[in-house]
Amino acid sequence: MNQHKPDPLLSANIEFSVDGRSVSLTVQVPAGPVSPQRLLPLAHALTNTIVDMAVEAQDEPVSCAKGCGACCRQLVPISTVEARAIHALVQAMEEPRRSTLIARFEDACRRMEAAGLMDRLRDFSRVARKDLVAFGLDYFGRGAPCPFLEDESCSIHADRPVVCREFLVSSDPRHCASPTPQTVRRIELGARVSRALPALEAPKSAPAMPWLPLILALEWAAAHPEERERPGPELLQALFGSLSGKDLPAPPGLGA
Ligand code: SF4
Repeated sequence: MNQHKPDPLLSANIEFSVDGRSVSLTVQVPAGPVSPQRLLPLAHALTNTIVDMAVEAQDEPVSCAKGCGACCRQLVPISTVEARAIHALVQAMEEPRRSTLIARFEDACRRMEAAGLMDRLRDFSRVARKDLVAFGLDYFGRGAPCPFLEDESCSIHADRPVVCREFLVSSDPRHCASPTPQTVRRIELGARVSRALPALEAPKSAPAMPWLPLILALEWAAAHPEERERPGPELLQALFGSLSGKDLPAPPGLGA
């Protein structure tokens, strides 16, 4: 009988600084090739740490509260690795929940199609940088809730994308219902893990577009089943290398 042997794990001590404050982490990654999705729990933990540090460091209190899902109608840019993870999450759901979720994704896409935004959503690179804010506001104006929003709360809180974790505001929550760059004040973070996530895709097979809107996650992942595994240490290096140095362009919407 063949017995599956788990990959040996390698430990790494990582030290880095965010806004002059040092952070030490001990992480374990499989030595052999694994799906880039294996690094998402680390990306989530890292993001939570960076967000906590930012909240602690600033004077104004965070105004986001449980039960307020205003920002969950924004364009939510996610990495392709997260799109695959969301696709797997929905596929693993029991019926009728899975079908309910799939119908909500389709409904959000239909709304954007009807609004004439879908071509640009399928290729952010066609949206000029100077138009990103206006495009994000146009999307928000269509009032399409995220498929995971239920009773104004996130129904996948533990698995929510990195960019959702990074979005906190200190401005009056009433402004979130009709946000503008002038009225909504974000909590500034020392580093944005969301911008480093595209580095988890292997360079040669990385998609041309580093981000896609969350509402296209199921469609995109179904059309791109091929996923290149990489050794755990290589994934770790790619994530932290990108986080520390590479200046990726900001995506629109929540990520802007
Ligand atoms: S995944 Fe959750 S937190 Fe993110 S936009 Fe959707 S409902 Fe909101």
